[in-house]
Amino acid sequence: MSSLNILAVEDESSIADNVRVALKSEGLTLTHVKTAREGLAQVQTQTFGLVILDVGLPDETGFDLCRKIRKISEVPILFLTARSEEIDKIIGFELGADDYLTKPFSPRELSVRVKAILKRASPKSEFVSYGPLKIDTEKFKITLGGEPLQLSRYEFKILELLVKRPGVVFSRQQLMELVWEDPGMSMDRTVDAHIKTIRAKLKEARPDLNLIETHRGLGYSLKEV
Ligand code: CA
Repeated sequence: MSSLNILAVEDESSIADNVRVALKSEGLTLTHVKTAREGLAQVQTQTFGLVILDVGLPDETGFDLCRKIRKISEVPILFLTARSEEIDKIIGFELGADDYLTKPFSPRELSVRVKAILKRASPKSEFVSYGPLKIDTEKFKITLGGEPLQLSRYEFKILELLVKRPGVVFSRQQLMELVWEDPGMSMDRTVDAHIKTIRAKLKEARPDLNLIETHRGLGYSLKEV
């Protein structure tokens, strides 16, 4: 986190000073510009951990700049605003902003917001492995022998469940309750159909392996290897 550079687009020097103090206390470095035009140029040429945007900029609004940034970057955006009608706009419109702070604010308030945003923006990964299967549960990615599998959401969740409890037999009913958001809408054959496609995808990646076992009348398990 300490290596992250933060961009602030803010035309008022006193506010920019507040931002600088807040970021310095967190060990973050600040690039400060005063116009939307300069702000966009910065985002186009550098990588930032966060962009702090004043709504009232001299050349165009922070909203316009936010829209332009969103076309080229997923960088988190924190708005600084002085007016309640601006807050409505930040919340109500789909600007893609992450948070806002109302002026005046203390460096302490800003540093709390910044820390929270940066924490959200850096997803931690959690890996679960079983034999040649490796699952990144945070990023919803599964690899088999290093090859990424293209699974649908439910296929992913079924396989994740089986991998976490190798050898345990899950009935169709259990799989449905644990995996589907609205199990009442699904049927036994929905589970079967998903198992079938998971098997096909596993087989395509590793034809020599048959990782999912069928237990007639009971359900499915991941073969213990
Ligand atoms: Ca301003």
